[in-house]
Amino acid sequence: MKKHLFALSVGLLSLSAVSAEEQTVNIYSYRQPFLIKPFLAKFTEETGIKTNVVFSKKGIFERVKSEGKDSPADLIFTVDISKLKAGAYKHDIAQPIESETVEKNIPAQYIAKDKKWVGLTRRVRVFAVSKEMPLSQAPKTYESLADPKYKGQICIRSGKNKYNVSLIASMIAAHGEAEAKKWLEGLKANLARKPQGNDRAQVKAVAEGVCSIAVLNNYYLGKMLFKYDKEQKKNVPNLEQREWVQKVNIIFPNQEDRGAHANISGVLLAKNAPNKENALKLINFLTGERAQEMYAELNYEYPLKEGVQPSALLASWGAPKVDSVSMNKIADLGDTALKLVDEVQFDGK
Ligand code: FE
Repeated sequence: MKKHLFALSVGLLSLSAVSAEEQTVNIYSYRQPFLIKPFLAKFTEETGIKTNVVFSKKGIFERVKSEGKDSPADLIFTVDISKLKAGAYKHDIAQPIESETVEKNIPAQYIAKDKKWVGLTRRVRVFAVSKEMPLSQAPKTYESLADPKYKGQICIRSGKNKYNVSLIASMIAAHGEAEAKKWLEGLKANLARKPQGNDRAQVKAVAEGVCSIAVLNNYYLGKMLFKYDKEQKKNVPNLEQREWVQKVNIIFPNQEDRGAHANISGVLLAKNAPNKENALKLINFLTGERAQEMYAELNYEYPLKEGVQPSALLASWGAPKVDSVSMNKIADLGDTALKLVDEVQFDGK
């Protein structure tokens, strides 16, 4: 049965000869395998604990739920706080992560009160603004995206996308629902085109002159400059996309007040984890200095562990001030944010 389940698995060599039963961690991941494989290789090298990874874009929570007590899953990796909470509570597939190491490494606002999810990295929603726009004219806050002076100049993906839902939730947290709705209407009125495409497509549109302001997660700027080469197992120049980035300035919004909106990626410990002790060791490892550095180097996400230096590229963009609003609040406001997206028909009819 396990063999079938891990038909797509990436088995990494164990360096020790201890029994496989004790020395394994089974991972279900919404995150792409190439993103986590380098960490897992390092973990196996350090501990001798083997890892198996099942990757899927959807249905992982449902799968763990239906596998029930027989589920081989130890850990579930995902991005986005709403998703972490859905796994922990709606699907109820998580158990508390009891670890002093995690509590030492990760600030409390990025750990569930009942410890059923733990954040691993932070991703900041930024602006990429055409270099043709003088920096003094560029928007400095999310609020200013609704300023009529930017009419026809903004590109953004669907309002229903989870990154935008959490951004809108952060506006509700900061200003209340009514103000946030007005803002969303103002932003819609400034769009250069109907929301479409992914985050990278917005920067491409700026480079092509469709609009002058793109909204996106910071790490895509890194990925458009460098892409992961599976054969060389490292980031190499992204020759197709780097010119888009070269045409924009990066702006971290709201640096003068609450800070830029950030979301997290994180991990759940499965309720019926068969290899719980090893799984906890892996979580500890992922919150540690080396793994936190690797997230920044490989994927241009910000470390959550304090004092860890982000990669040279991230550092070159500066150290953004980040909104300290509770991740729980952002997740709780997600449904209200989606309701506003519908009410203002943000994505068009
Ligand atoms: Fe993403």
